[in-house]
This record gives sequence, structure tokens and C-alpha cells, in this order.
Amino acid sequence: SGKSKVTIVGSGNWGSVASKLIASNTLKLHSFHDEVRMWVFEETLPSGEKLTDVINRTNENVRYLPGIKLGKNVIADPDLENAVKDANMLVFVTPHQFMDGICNKLVGKVNKDVEAISLIKGMEVKKEGPCMISNLISEQLGINCCVLMGANIANEIAVEKLSEATVGYRENKEIAEKWVQLFTTPYFIVSAVQDVEGVELCGTLKNVVAIAAGLVDGLEMGNNTKAAIMRIGLREMKALSKLLFSSVKDSTFFESCGVADLITTCLGGRNRKVAEAFAKNGGKRSFDDLEAEMLQGQKLQGVSTAKEVYEVLSHRGWLELFPLFATVHEIAIGHLPPSAIVKYSEHKPMLS
Ligand code: NAD
Ligand code: 13P
Repeated sequence: SGKSKVTIVGSGNWGSVASKLIASNTLKLHSFHDEVRMWVFEETLPSGEKLTDVINRTNENVRYLPGIKLGKNVIADPDLENAVKDANMLVFVTPHQFMDGICNKLVGKVNKDVEAISLIKGMEVKKEGPCMISNLISEQLGINCCVLMGANIANEIAVEKLSEATVGYRENKEIAEKWVQLFTTPYFIVSAVQDVEGVELCGTLKNVVAIAAGLVDGLEMGNNTKAAIMRIGLREMKALSKLLFSSVKDSTFFESCGVADLITTCLGGRNRKVAEAFAKNGGKRSFDDLEAEMLQGQKLQGVSTAKEVYEVLSHRGWLELFPLFATVHEIAIGHLPPSAIVKYSEHKPMLS
């Protein structure tokens, strides 16, 4: 029929909101099939029911986005291979640590003309160096992959409060426009820029800065200190992005994926919240422990990203150039106390 079929790989907090956005549009736009498939990492609820069954019965992801109707045209599917089988457009939105395993399962199962987009904020570190998640998808599955990042705290978009987002694309502007069309709603304003790496690195690296901002909140340092951490963090984001990919554009940092996402995450994100608790406990309870208790199955990206960034920095001999990124990791693993986040005089040079 020439209509595109969309499958969403992932069904967490943001994955569920993405399904809602997309499902409202496939009903309206003639170039898409109404039905949207959503792969669910199956789990059994305390009631004994399977999560997929409950989603399909109630149109609600009661576990990761309670109280929000996803749309009757969202079909939850626990079988990954089956969920992607007939899709022409794949939306990847899982915590980044699961993507290597998911891609391995999908090798050979996806047609080469399928278009993908990643909403995932994170990276993998391989022997050869850092591998952005869109690149992992592209290379493992042999398909093109755009990204969508932005100042997008999922629970706020779920209740239709206005926000913006940025699509990053490599070459094909028409494909980028198709993704923009699929996601745009009156309360979700999307624009496209030709800078996949810049957009994805913004979304990935700001999670490390959000940990730093949360530590400062836990230490009750006040707004000026937090703003300083955000400024230094933004400079490290830009410097590292450009060292890794010389094609990254300055203008990308002024899109929603850049400074706007940094601000919202440092004010209201999960990374911030858990890091605040970590500092309040004087670093005595681990991030894993606090994550499990405070997020109830939702996942932090900033702590593992700080580790991944640290590996890249140490391999390349750049640790001293990025004191904020390096310090976040050293605090997270207990080598430094939370208060080290503001002990810049002991680290040199600070990016100016
Ligand atoms: P989440 O934090 O709600 O994580 C929970 C999800 O992980 C659930 O679907 C769960 O089933 C799944 N999961 C748990 N164990 C798994 C396993 N072993 N294999 C596969 N899946 C497993 O997820 P989210 O909020 O949808 O975040 C996904 C991505 O989107 C992340 O990279 C995040 O940074 C990004 N993001 C999130 C938000 C937000 O506000 N939540 C906003 C923008 C971007
Ligand atoms: P957290 O994962 O810290 O909640 O950040 C969400 C986000 O990426 C907002 O754009």
C-alpha cells in the first residue's frame, strides 16, 4: 500500500510517551499505517498479569507511565523479532545499556531499507573507541539511523505540556522531515538539523552534567554554584563533542537538544534527583541502590555514561582537559567524596 509501518523498540517512561505521540499522528497522517507496534521487555506485575496483556487491555503502561492512555492503536508485543518483522520505520528508545544485546538479537531480522531513529541518550565504548547508539544500530543492522533528542522530561510531555525537540540527520533531509512529521504535535515542536553526532552527543553528555548538578543540590550549594556547574559542563560537552567529531556544529548546542535539555535535566531529571540523594547520604549508598529504590525500574543513564566517558578520556590522554566529567565518575565509584564536585582548585586546567 506504500504506507509506512512504525514499530517502537522500548516501552519505558519515555518510550511510552513516544508511543502516544506517534500513535496520535499515525491516525491522522495518510502515509502511515494506523497501528503502532511497541516491543515490551516483558515482566509480570504484582497482580500476576503480564505487562503486555495489561497494556493491550487498558491502553496504559501501568508500570512506567501510569494514568496516561497511549492510544488504542498501540499494540504491545513481547516478541522482539515479531514486533519488527513488518516495520518500515523503527524507533529505538530503551536505556542505552540494553542496546548491544537488542541489536545482536535483531541482526539479519531487519530489511536493509528500513529507516531508524534513536531517542536513546548514551554511548557504547568499544576497543576502537566510543560508538554512539545510532551508530551501533546503523552498523549492526545495516540501516540508516537518525536521532531525536531534546528538553523532554517524559512525564511533562505525557500531560501535553509544550516542549521542543531536535532531529539530527546525516544526509537525507526527506527522511528527517518524515520523522519530524511523525513526532510533531501541537505540544511537541520538532525541527531537524544536519548533525547526527552533535545532537546525540548533546543528549548523551548532558546526563553526566546532570549528575554533577544533582550533587551540588545535595550539598546545598545554591543556584550560583549550580549555574557554574552547568556552564562548565556545557563547555566540556562542546569541547569533547568536537574532539570526537570535527563535523559537530556550534549551532547545535543552541537547539533544544543542547542548552535546553541541559537546563531541564539539571532542574527536573532523574539523574539530578538520584545524585542529590547520593550527596545527601555522603556517598555512603551506591547509585545502583538509590536508583533501584527511587526509580522503581526506570534507569539512570548518567552514571554509566560518566564511566564510558572516563574510559574514552583516559584512553586518549584527555582526562585533565575534562575535570568535571572525570570528577563525576570518580565520585560515583567512591574514589572522591561528593564535595569534590566543587573542589576545582585542585584540578587544573578548568575549561575557560
Ligand atoms: P526507563 O528509564 O523508564 O527504563 C525502563 C525500561 O527499561 C522499561 O521498559 C524496562 O522494561 C526496560 N528494561 C529493563 N531491563 C531491561 C533489559 N534487560 N532489556 C531491555 N529492556 C529492559 O526508560 P525510558 O525513560 O524510556 O528511557 C529510554 C531512553 O530515553 C534513555 O536513553 C533515556 O535517557 C532517554 N530519555 C528519557 C526521558 C525521560 O524523561 N524518561 C526523556 C528523554 C530521553
Ligand atoms: P533524566 O533521565 O535525568 O530524567 O533526563 C531525562 C531527559 O533526558 C530529559 O530530556
